[in-house]
Amino acid sequence: MTVAIASPTAGQPRSVTILGATGSVGGSTARVIKETPERFRVKALTAWSRVDELARLAVELDAERAVIGRNDLLPRLQSLLEGTRIEARGGERAIIKAAEMDADFVMASIVGASGLEPTLAAIRRGALIGLANKECLVCAGPLMLSEVARNGATLLPVDSEHNAMFQAIAGSCRTSVERLTLTASGGPFRCWSRERMSAASREDALAHPKWSMGTKISIDSATMMNKALELIEAHYLFGIEERSIEVVVHPQSIIHSLVTFTDGSTLAQLSPPDMRVPIAHALGWPSRLEVGTTRLDLAAIGSLDFEAPDTGRFPALRLAREALNAGGTAPILFNAANEVAVAAFLERRIGFLDIVSIVETALERVDSRALTSLEEVLAYDRSARRHAQESVTRRARLAV
Ligand code: NAD
Ligand code: MG
Repeated sequence: MTVAIASPTAGQPRSVTILGATGSVGGSTARVIKETPERFRVKALTAWSRVDELARLAVELDAERAVIGRNDLLPRLQSLLEGTRIEARGGERAIIKAAEMDADFVMASIVGASGLEPTLAAIRRGALIGLANKECLVCAGPLMLSEVARNGATLLPVDSEHNAMFQAIAGSCRTSVERLTLTASGGPFRCWSRERMSAASREDALAHPKWSMGTKISIDSATMMNKALELIEAHYLFGIEERSIEVVVHPQSIIHSLVTFTDGSTLAQLSPPDMRVPIAHALGWPSRLEVGTTRLDLAAIGSLDFEAPDTGRFPALRLAREALNAGGTAPILFNAANEVAVAAFLERRIGFLDIVSIVETALERVDSRALTSLEEVLAYDRSARRHAQESVTRRARLAV
């Protein structure tokens, strides 16, 4: 199993840094900490631009340091924190420095590949890391895993599916895992035709039926790119080959994923669709926290449904499998093109179906080189984004 095991400091409050504290996962992490304050001390909180919210959270959680990525907002952060003992910092380097502070646990909840450098900084000092930021693992999987092994860091999956599989696998050895089954809600367009999706608006795509999440992951759920990224994430986290990872659509989002073992047993993790459950599992691991999330009432739910994903209407899953099998730079191209295309869709520059189509075009440029250093990954990611921007511009021109 690739996910490592380390022992926490017994009986001591765990010190925590939240990268991306103002986001959906960051906010849920803050809520769990507020519910169990005796268990945690907050070291640093980082955010990109929501400076008022960052300052409010830093005061509420009594953080040592608050970091705003946009340096022009540092004066505002300083003035909001005046009279407190909280250090205010600004700029992208300051986010990496926050990850380097000696917190026991780092919640990696920045969205997109921008989270790679800070997450790697936490890995390089051997921290316990709650990994929500799947894009950084997708674009730099081999690099991150070798750094985890070299520095004795521990990755605890926070993405609900991977957290579910991690819980199901606990106590079994890697060789006894036969198959992973990722569940997918199907997103807001589960029952939509391709024709109807071609006219889908930003608002339609953001209206997720089950989960309340940040904008990027909500669009990824609508295209099923989220499940595609999760397939790649599962491959890296658990060291399982692509053909042994399957996806099943489960609209109620109660079973968060399943693991089938060589003896024919299948184990699942169930809970209401609330990110505080996997977040609490990672924050408290290996012990359990007391968190007041709604408990399951199976009789009220009545039935759980499952269906095979339709890769004709949602080609993202097929592309993720192709990217994994192509290897080399394919996962970087896959992620970078998706990030660029999602941003363009959110700006209403391209149509909904253009998103996955731009990713498919990007994969034509795959290169078999294995990129092993951070500098190589970042440089390749930048060039992949430039090419994807050109695709966006061509499609935006066609649309007018
Ligand atoms: P979000 O958009 O709500 O929050 C993103 C956070 O990252 C914010 O705090 C923002 O300030 C920060 N950020 C944005 N751009 C940045 C940059 N360039 N540099 C530094 N910080 C930056 O996102 P989210 O929905 O909380 O998702 C965060 C990550 O967790 C994503 O990778 C997502 O796929 C994953 N995830 C989210 C959920 C969920 O329920 N929201 C579930 C599973 C996994
Ligand atoms: Mg997920």
